[in-house]
Amino acid sequence: MSANISLNAVIIGAGPAGLMAAEQLARHNILVTIFDAMPSVGRKFLRAGIGGLNLTHSENKSDFLKRYTPVHQIEPWLKRFDADALISWAKELGIDTFVGSSGRIFPMQKKAAPLLRAWLKRLKDSGVNIETRHRWLGWDEHGNLRFQNSEGELTVRSEVVIFALGGGSWPRLGSDGRWMEIFRQRGINCQPFRSSNCGFNYSWSDNFQREQQGQPLKNVCLTSQISSKKGDATISAYGLEGSLIYGLSASIQDQISNKGQAIVYWDLLPDRSVTDIRGKLQNRRSKDSLSNMLRKQLGISGSKLALLKELTSKEQMQNIDALAELIKNLPQILPSCRPISEAISTAGGVDFEQLTEGLMLKSAPGIFCVGEMLDWDAPTGGYLLTACFASGVVAGEAAVKYLSQRSKTIGTSN
Ligand SMILES: Cc1cc2nc3c(=O)[nH]c(=O)nc-3n(C[C@H](O)[C@H](O)[C@H](O)COP(=O)(O)OP(=O)(O)OC[C@H]3O[C@@H](n4cnc5c(N)ncnc54)[C@H](O)[C@@H]3O)c2cc1C
Repeated sequence: MSANISLNAVIIGAGPAGLMAAEQLARHNILVTIFDAMPSVGRKFLRAGIGGLNLTHSENKSDFLKRYTPVHQIEPWLKRFDADALISWAKELGIDTFVGSSGRIFPMQKKAAPLLRAWLKRLKDSGVNIETRHRWLGWDEHGNLRFQNSEGELTVRSEVVIFALGGGSWPRLGSDGRWMEIFRQRGINCQPFRSSNCGFNYSWSDNFQREQQGQPLKNVCLTSQISSKKGDATISAYGLEGSLIYGLSASIQDQISNKGQAIVYWDLLPDRSVTDIRGKLQNRRSKDSLSNMLRKQLGISGSKLALLKELTSKEQMQNIDALAELIKNLPQILPSCRPISEAISTAGGVDFEQLTEGLMLKSAPGIFCVGEMLDWDAPTGGYLLTACFASGVVAGEAAVKYLSQRSKTIGTSN
């Protein structure tokens, strides 16, 4: 059976990775059609804009690269399209960026919509066709792509197909991860999805939860196994979230899957030594309450003080030596992580062993995969979007090369 439509190049998934792949093809005057299941494109990208759209990071190239697992798979992408290239690309679209105090890079307006609007206009002007409300269902027995749209089923044949279907978190924004089962049925190896950059559950006391939910824990250090990070976390009704927690989420999850729970250790005063803290505690004046003393002498107040009291017994609070140690090394047991649907991103996805350097499936020439649907991981900080964009550039360029080699081969054989 022939397909309803025959096309040169098809992208499935209109997130940052898919749109970037489309741009590379369009630059070479190749007609591209992008299909997306949702009524509008780039929904997760727009959602990222609510947090200010952390596009990339300003740290040096070597530290930047170390954020990725597996590093050796992501390195060639970043050699082709790195943070500087991303900043220039945004500038070409009329979007200036700035470096925040943490080194993270944001668009001046701290929103995704202006960038996406300018980008979509440029793509449309260069001939890219976008079909929303087209859900990819799999392949038919002839290898044609099957789509569900409002009128029924559509089959499409294309010389090049770039899958950019996203990971498995926030399914209501489109990336529901249902593609993984279809890929597996075709014999394409995929690693199961795991929450990444996710929050953790903890059963706070009623008072603590009522008074502290939504409060930040600023300038603290957290240790899980051998990993320690300094930064800010947020107390939530369910437990803990925020960039510091996300940055350690892989290690915390490792503990939970190996031991059934994770122990993490807070350092509430990372810039002070235990001796210094003990000294201050010993000099407490008798008329000062402990809370007052902690606030005045050590700057432990608000949510930090509440956390210290929540995780410490009354006896420990009264014992100066124990308290000094606990301020520097306060244990908390985390029983479980939040559901995958709430994670900022997911690890797992198409196995790199299945792919060429140009991100084409070795078993299916002409089919490429990009973005978060591949099995890599990175913390928040702009690293996720940078790699998604970069993978779109790499696969888009490889697809251009593939089409040009194919047309030469067909030309020679005619
Ligand atoms: C709340 C939140 C905040 C974030 N903030 C940041 C940030 O500030 N910085 C950062 O670097 N990263 C951030 N991220 C992560 C970043 O948004 C993602 O890593 C990125 O969007 C992934 O891009 P992608 O193109 O691979 O996939 P997605 O953006 O997930 O796009 C996949 C597309 O595929 C479509 N699709 C899926 N299945 C089908 C199907 N069967 N048929 C047709 N279409 C389909 C979906 O509708 C979707 O449009 C954030 C994520 C979340 C959830």
